[in-house]
Amino acid sequence: MTRSIARSGKVYLVGAGPGDPELLTLRAARLLETADVVVYDHLVTDAIMDFVAPEALRICVGKQRNNHTLPQEDINQLLSGLANTHQRVVRLKGGDPFIFGRGGEELQSLVANGIPFEVVPGVTAACGVSSYAGIPLTHRDYAQSCTFVTGHLQDGSTNLDWTTLVRPRQTVVIYMGLGGLEEICRQMMQHGARPELGVAVVQDGTTESQKVICGTLADIATRVADGQLRSPCLTIIGDVVRLHPQLQWFSRRP
Ligand code: SAH
Repeated sequence: MTRSIARSGKVYLVGAGPGDPELLTLRAARLLETADVVVYDHLVTDAIMDFVAPEALRICVGKQRNNHTLPQEDINQLLSGLANTHQRVVRLKGGDPFIFGRGGEELQSLVANGIPFEVVPGVTAACGVSSYAGIPLTHRDYAQSCTFVTGHLQDGSTNLDWTTLVRPRQTVVIYMGLGGLEEICRQMMQHGARPELGVAVVQDGTTESQKVICGTLADIATRVADGQLRSPCLTIIGDVVRLHPQLQWFSRRP
């Protein structure tokens, strides 16, 4: 005789991409349609949440800078708890869950609790936002490498490895860098970057409210302040930014 054993559900750590629902992977869309519960954060757009079945439970756990709705430890506990009561738990995160998304931390906690999981990658902001802004992150004339960094540190400072970031022929993409933009530009110039090096700041990339402001290390902070950009913004630094006027397409659609 077979005895039924209480089996826990599974947690799917899913990347939602940068905003445009068309950039969801097929796997992500299918999981959203069949999830019993979706735990999501503020970067996930309404258009993406529309994929979730009406009867599914939706839990927003926030995560806006300086406005953490739920501390990370509580999110970890929540996921394990939900996996005990639901079969298909989707943990939905903006962009890719493994790029500045704390996806690794959440999985470590699931492992500690013996909960099975899968990971579904998403289009990270650097790729999605740069594509929709018409700024190729590499280009044989301008950049042979690309670095992703976070501009947000716990204590508000930005102790990045400036010597590496100012090396020529590379593109630097800064996540969460809006608050520290002025300081980042100042440090890059102090460490030898040209004041006329191109910088683009993109708000709400890949969505209808996308805004792109271009400038240089010397003047971008003023331009961004004048343009009243708000989070989420992605900063792209490098000579590739000069391709934007020629290659921008999203804002030119009929
Ligand atoms: N895991 C996410 C990043 C989370 S960190 C990913 O892979 O994309 C959050 C930061 O991502 C924001 O502060 C911003 O810098 C960037 N970001 C995410 N979506 C964005 C968007 N649509 N437009 C501009 N920046 C975005």
